[in-house]
Amino acid sequence: MTASLDAARRARELDALAGETIDVLVVGGGITGAGVALDAVARGLSVALVERGDLAQGTSRWSSKLVHGGLRYLASGDVGLAYESAVERGILLGRTAPHLVRPLANVLPLVPSMSTVDTLTTRAGLAAGDVLRRAAGTPRRLLARSRRLGPAGTARLAPAVRTAGLRGGLVWWDGQLTDDAALVVAVARTAAAHGARILTRVEARSVTGDGAELTDRRTGATLTVRARAVVNATGVWAGDLDPEIVLRPSRGTHLVVPADRLGGLPAALTVPYPGESGRYVFALPAAGGRAYVGLTDEEAAFPGEADPLPGPSDVDALLAALGGVLDVPLTTGDVLGTFTGLRPLLAGAGSSRAAGRSADLSRRHAVRLGAAGVITVVGGKLTTYRRMAQDAVDVVVAARGLDAGPCRTTDLPLVGAAPQAVLARVPAPRRLVHRYGTEAIRVLAEAPADLRGPIAAAGVTGAEVLFAVRHEGALDADDVLHRRTRIGLVAAEAAECRAAVAEIVTFGLG
Ligand SMILES: Cc1cc2nc3c(=O)[nH]c(=O)nc-3n(C[C@H](O)[C@H](O)[C@H](O)COP(=O)(O)OP(=O)(O)OC[C@H]3O[C@@H](n4cnc5c(N)ncnc54)[C@H](O)[C@@H]3O)c2cc1C
Repeated sequence: MTASLDAARRARELDALAGETIDVLVVGGGITGAGVALDAVARGLSVALVERGDLAQGTSRWSSKLVHGGLRYLASGDVGLAYESAVERGILLGRTAPHLVRPLANVLPLVPSMSTVDTLTTRAGLAAGDVLRRAAGTPRRLLARSRRLGPAGTARLAPAVRTAGLRGGLVWWDGQLTDDAALVVAVARTAAAHGARILTRVEARSVTGDGAELTDRRTGATLTVRARAVVNATGVWAGDLDPEIVLRPSRGTHLVVPADRLGGLPAALTVPYPGESGRYVFALPAAGGRAYVGLTDEEAAFPGEADPLPGPSDVDALLAALGGVLDVPLTTGDVLGTFTGLRPLLAGAGSSRAAGRSADLSRRHAVRLGAAGVITVVGGKLTTYRRMAQDAVDVVVAARGLDAGPCRTTDLPLVGAAPQAVLARVPAPRRLVHRYGTEAIRVLAEAPADLRGPIAAAGVTGAEVLFAVRHEGALDADDVLHRRTRIGLVAAEAAECRAAVAEIVTFGLG
């Protein structure tokens, strides 16, 4: 079976689904659903995943794109969750996705507003993070140890920060994704390579423990599918399919700014949020000369289907928090775009302050077998998707008595993955290797010469658009602009190249 997803495979596999009883139907094509599909199919189960929009249509493309070792969970005393994150980070960096996840240096400049208590607490937290990294078995060649730098070294890593009063800085390493939607697509394609059916534009209108009523949103046709187990992996929408699930979503906004306004961001920059102990704003380097500045955390209204919008004060709050330490503060004129996501946090699951700020709600995941027999997996984060999927499929197998092998995903490389030494020798531009891994050569080789050049300011080539349609399941220009490439994070750039993208999509579908 091939990892390639395209419109013809979708149509064929959707047709076949109506007459069969499959082992596992997964609803939701974010990182959680894709992870469950991969785990289940790798155990030898027959699997179909239905997603009402595109892969990564929901929260999974609005994250900070970090694969973090759980420092903030350590700070809140949840050592178990921090350890789980550190283990999963090591698996992604070292084994399953070294092309998509790379080490990222983070610097926290010790600016005058950073109190001695906060400095000492942060140093202690970073030291504990080092212990956790070792305990998780991640070698120092993958993630170096944290350390303290003097003012000159800090200024080199954080060139945009005001040097007056700078006492030095703290540096640590974590994982960063090339792109979160790219991870979802890679997991889904890996599942497809093992035989899972990945069906986008298919909505589950209702589910039971042994099947679902589906609508093909391309044609309007309806079908009933029978399954031995149904997994609800619909994130912030989980309560729509199982009313026993009550979520309390929180809204997180990022800004997209030019990285050169932050001195090129040789390292991710973390600075204290003014007036709030233990809360930080960060700037992360991103592809195409962009940087992401985040992150707000505010209670959100219940989601609709459209993309969430930033709150009225989100942009100003982020600019003010970061601007406080910069030589030349960012202004609204520097903001190229914004993106906002809703965290699928379970109501009541979390700290003693569950009724307080959403930042205090637990980021743990939960697997629940509902009264109707539907198994819901919700919460967690991108970093721990593999573990969430393992836990969910363990419940599926036990609850339904399915004949399945053990979980295999800790050692199952995602499509395009290879050890760093192999990736370093792939004869293709680094930008493509960081997105497609060993497939980067194929992306270029399969494209006619006139599609190998950039079509957008972010450097995206026509070859990538063609690959998205022929192998990554993109069905239209929006899938390409917003989920296969991230051109769409800057609306002006998307508008500029939309016609060119649409033309290549039509060519690719033909
Ligand atoms: C602002 C922000 C920053 C974050 N940063 C990080 C980070 O840096 N690192 C990290 O590890 N985690 C991070 N997270 C957490 C992480 O992004 C989420 O936990 C994760 O993406 C949730 O994935 P999901 O698959 O459960 O949900 P989703 O990605 O929302 O997927 C659910 C899918 O279900 C589909 N769906 C809904 N209803 C139906 C239906 N009836 N039929 C078919 N399909 C349906 C939706 O279209 C959607 O695609 C962040 C979250 C936010 C909000």
